[in-house]
Amino acid sequence: MNTENSFAASETNYSQCNVLIVGGGPAGLATALMLAKRGWKNITVLEKRPTAGYYEPDKSFSYQIDGRGQKFTDYLELTHQLSTISVPSTEFYLTTIKPDGSRKTFKLPIVDPKRKTAYWLPRRAFLLLLYQEIERDWQDSITVLFNTSCLQINKIAINNAEEKLEIVVKGENGNIVKFAPNLLVGCDGLNSIVRHTLKEWDKSGSDKFEMKLFPSPSSGLKYKVLSLPPNLPLDRKGEEHAVSTMAYAIRGAFKGRTRSVSLGLLPLKNPDEPRTANIITYPDHEIWELKNSEELYNFLEPAFPQLPIRQIVSPQEADRFAKSEGGSFPIPQYCSGLHFLLKANQSCATGIVLLGDAIHCFPPDIGQGVNSALEDVCVLNEALSRSNDDISLALPLYESLRLPDVKALVRLAQTAFPWQYNQDPLRRNLWSVNFFLRLLLSRLLPFIFSSPAFLLIQNQQLSYQQIWAMVQRTTQILYLLGLIFIVGYLAVVLKVAEI
Ligand SMILES: Cc1cc2nc3c(=O)[nH]c(=O)nc-3n(C[C@H](O)[C@H](O)[C@H](O)COP(=O)(O)OP(=O)(O)OC[C@H]3O[C@@H](n4cnc5c(N)ncnc54)[C@H](O)[C@@H]3O)c2cc1C
Repeated sequence: MNTENSFAASETNYSQCNVLIVGGGPAGLATALMLAKRGWKNITVLEKRPTAGYYEPDKSFSYQIDGRGQKFTDYLELTHQLSTISVPSTEFYLTTIKPDGSRKTFKLPIVDPKRKTAYWLPRRAFLLLLYQEIERDWQDSITVLFNTSCLQINKIAINNAEEKLEIVVKGENGNIVKFAPNLLVGCDGLNSIVRHTLKEWDKSGSDKFEMKLFPSPSSGLKYKVLSLPPNLPLDRKGEEHAVSTMAYAIRGAFKGRTRSVSLGLLPLKNPDEPRTANIITYPDHEIWELKNSEELYNFLEPAFPQLPIRQIVSPQEADRFAKSEGGSFPIPQYCSGLHFLLKANQSCATGIVLLGDAIHCFPPDIGQGVNSALEDVCVLNEALSRSNDDISLALPLYESLRLPDVKALVRLAQTAFPWQYNQDPLRRNLWSVNFFLRLLLSRLLPFIFSSPAFLLIQNQQLSYQQIWAMVQRTTQILYLLGLIFIVGYLAVVLKVAEI
């Protein structure tokens, strides 16, 4: 492991400045690869989990890497490899299974044929893809330290005009190590220690490292993930088995806000991998009160009479599920400070930059968490290219290029598709009317009306900022038409009343 001394040297060649990345999730591993590809050396990633492919049942959800995320995989020439371990969106078939066992299979409509094929794969498989790329081609530049946590970040004055960073880290064996990087990258997710530290340091009074919250109808929903065997039986007679590449929506028999439940299974390329079913519902739902495997079986058996529950949920898994804390969908949020520069009077600046969930976080409604994190990495790459890898220029440029999109992304996450978890049938239906009205109008009068946000987001050539502007313009026109309609209607009513 590198020690403070090995990191303290101040290089004059910026591409050789030392980098410490906190967090080995998608944003952290992708940033390390991007910097290594640019020729940077001595890049260290700190990750508190034990391995890249570590199986965390409640984080075993699937990602759809779309055209936006593929800007990064194209840059690293990883898209072909990605496609070989994923299910393409062009082959996305969904089977719904009702409580009486009746089923219907349909192909997800491809609304925009020009849209780039997106790829579905588990989070773990995507992290392994990135990590294996590091192991294969970038070992000389990147070191990933697992079981290693960033504990503290200090800013140390060298003299009146210069400061350096000191990062206190707890390593694998519990030993404390200190790093003094020239660039610190915060990719440590929503509860980022890097962002929290910057919030404490920031004396500008702007609260720019404070998350700004934009509540949505899906924020606060609770989720847990149930692990099921590969090729699980889908009926009580065991005649039909799940196909790994098929998505399933298994509807429960219970009705009512705190009882009704469904299982959602996303497609998987590897037929030998366990299937995972997402259960997402209100925090006061009955299922979260179940304390042990027997209570869970007693709930799931009548809830899903079409399934051989005891056969597909092992007692160990039932117990784990009942005892797991699960997670809850965050309120859509962002912070407006994406970088921080320390005082420097030398040729090599010292700075801190934030990417991924550390700066923008929201429920998975629009499938943009990982894609926007990968796009952050591409924007940082662009800022570095435009400033010749000079941190003092690149970090402010990254913030000015990315912040407008970050703000727009969070507003889109708040409104684009928050009613998809069967929370409230009436509100969902109203949302659907709005969606199909916009879709119809955009097909009939494309120069006046834009498509619904959920579809526009899939077009990686449009920035989040452009999409938000298009959506708002359509909303304003719809309001105006609504107003004209109401005024016209009242005028006719008054006229008729006069007669
Ligand atoms: C239920 C659910 C479903 C989702 N589905 C989708 C989806 O379908 N599509 C999509 O695009 N996005 C989805 N997301 C969101 C997506 O997972 C995140 O947006 C994405 O993981 C962000 O990547 P990140 O690297 O910024 O942060 P993270 O993935 O949170 O990674 C942060 C990493 O930092 C590590 N870390 C944190 N603190 C420290 C520390 N002090 N020291 C060392 N290591 C540390 C953590 O262990 C973690 O590995 C979903 C999220 C949830 C919760």
